[in-house]
Amino acid sequence: MLKSYLKKCFYCGGKMEKTKVGYSINRKDYHLYLEEVPAYLCATCKERLFDEGEVKVIQKLIKHLESDVRQLQTA
Ligand SMILES: [Zn+2]
Repeated sequence: MLKSYLKKCFYCGGKMEKTKVGYSINRKDYHLYLEEVPAYLCATCKERLFDEGEVKVIQKLIKHLESDVRQLQTA
């Protein structure tokens, strides 16, 4: 995809490169750490940007996890 080569950092205008980053989610009931999530990383300020596709997967994951956690807590 050509789009991925044209990404610019929203904050500093720096060049963003596709890489894999660790991503953590901290909630009251659980802490989740995902390793190697594909993302764009700014070479200048280290700002991270996730693609819509990855964001959707993560949101789906959280939704499932939250319902499972709830089930566990009311067991
Ligand atoms: Zn930047």
